[in-house]
Amino acid sequence: MANLKDKYDVVVIGAGIGGLTSGALLAKEGLDVLVAEQGSKPGGYCVSSQRDGFTFDTAVDAVMGCEKGGPIYDTLEELALTNDIDFIKLAAGTRIIGTGYDISVTSIEALANELKKLFPAESTSIDAFLGDCKALAREMERLMEPAPDLLGLTGKLGLIVRFLFGSPKMRKYGGKSAGEVLNTFFKEPRLRAIFGTILPFGPAAMAPLIMNILGGELVGYYPRGGAGALANVFTKGLTKHGGELALKTRVARILIKNGQAIGVELVDGSRIKSRYVVSNADGRQTFLNLVGEQHLSSKFVRELRETSLSRSSFLVSLGVDLDLKAMGFDGTSIVYNRSDDLNEIFSTDLTKCYMTIRMHSLRDSSQAPEGMATVQLHTMLPYDYMGNWGREKDGTLGRESTEMEEAVAGKLIALAEGIIPGLSEHIVVKDIISPLAFERYTLNSEGATMGWFPAPGGKMRSQKTPVKNLYQAGAWTFPGPSIYMVVPSGRNAAQIVLNEARS
Ligand SMILES: Cc1cc2nc3c(=O)[nH]c(=O)nc-3n(C[C@H](O)[C@H](O)[C@H](O)COP(=O)(O)OP(=O)(O)OC[C@H]3O[C@@H](n4cnc5c(N)ncnc54)[C@H](O)[C@@H]3O)c2cc1C
Repeated sequence: MANLKDKYDVVVIGAGIGGLTSGALLAKEGLDVLVAEQGSKPGGYCVSSQRDGFTFDTAVDAVMGCEKGGPIYDTLEELALTNDIDFIKLAAGTRIIGTGYDISVTSIEALANELKKLFPAESTSIDAFLGDCKALAREMERLMEPAPDLLGLTGKLGLIVRFLFGSPKMRKYGGKSAGEVLNTFFKEPRLRAIFGTILPFGPAAMAPLIMNILGGELVGYYPRGGAGALANVFTKGLTKHGGELALKTRVARILIKNGQAIGVELVDGSRIKSRYVVSNADGRQTFLNLVGEQHLSSKFVRELRETSLSRSSFLVSLGVDLDLKAMGFDGTSIVYNRSDDLNEIFSTDLTKCYMTIRMHSLRDSSQAPEGMATVQLHTMLPYDYMGNWGREKDGTLGRESTEMEEAVAGKLIALAEGIIPGLSEHIVVKDIISPLAFERYTLNSEGATMGWFPAPGGKMRSQKTPVKNLYQAGAWTFPGPSIYMVVPSGRNAAQIVLNEARS
């Protein structure tokens, strides 16, 4: 644990990208900031690891908003860091492969044309659906800028008026699930599978999530050097403006006095006072573990307990001695649909479940030794899969857990041979991250990869909390998960703290 002062203006709990964004912007404005991170490196999910010359990203396949005017670029510009990172513009957003289709998603127009050729009987529905997606994405942009928490009374009234009278698509689809909307538009199950796998939330998630993606920018960027490079540049933003990052520093408690946050207590029992606390930690943990139920209303606690979490992930990272370029791949990540049924794709049946195949070393050759390549297989599997992955009663991971992880990985590798023939015979290195490990690395409850589950009509938590001087930044709050969203979330939290500090 680092040698820390006993008092700061702001303590940020967690060095995920949302926490780092808040910390860096507050430090730049002259506040004395500590970011306390329990892990051994900054970035949260947005990290890379090295093994035998291979670099593997834990999360982050594509990042939106890295162009001038986008939230990532603008934040880095504000922190004077745009020269410290190189974003590679990707050739396509994704490539979706299934029974009788192989589609590269580059723009909404190209997607519409390709799908109409494949499914001519559904042409009218394709145009109508994508038209609604475009309109909804425009509405969402107008509703989300600026963040509701930063608006005064007149601004908030304006927002309500915009929602009631200027957002017909949001009102129409906000309370509906993706599955419901796709069923209404399309008879062809493969179209539902294609649209429904643009984002890995599944058919039960709120429809506007998928529609907003489809109606917006479809092709993102990749940080040269991998996800870790992105975490490092945001860390530099913190430290170059005088903020401190303390790694291996776990917060055990948020100190509360007279209903307001006054600092934190670390696991070693030491206390650090602060005027403000920003939590980048999991939404449940922040309140139920760090604040404590005794400081919260029973209604709020009930809501936290009853709100579902997003599903966790299972990631197999492989170093392979294959020439993937010669095999026809270009680094575009592949969604490999092995069923036409969206419900089956988001089931736990390994032969049919959601799978993406990433080949990041084709984007950035420094990620694999010469003549080698990286392949990552990603699927969504729950925390409680097969009896909590064979975890022992005392919570430890025994031989059974390892065997189970190996078996799941083995099945996914065999299935991925439908795309990369011979894959299993060319593995040089293999790493597995199961839901239990996702939880261990980030303390996100049950390894939830995307914060709260975005149920239709669900509530989005804001940066403000019921505890005075405690704010939240990151995927568990507005505007939601992904780097594109947690950076604005971190910005909002920083702006609210600054407004408070200056008032
Ligand atoms: C497999 C996968 C693929 C993804 N793909 C993409 C993608 O392609 N594009 C994209 O934009 N997004 C993607 N995401 C989502 C994106 O990575 C996350 O939404 C984002 O990184 C979350 O950032 P965050 O700021 O909320 O913090 P998190 O990454 O959740 O980090 C929280 C941090 O807080 C720390 N912490 C927690 N509790 C404490 C405590 N008590 N004391 C001290 N520290 C604590 C944790 O150790 C962690 O470092 C993906 C996620 C996953 C898992």
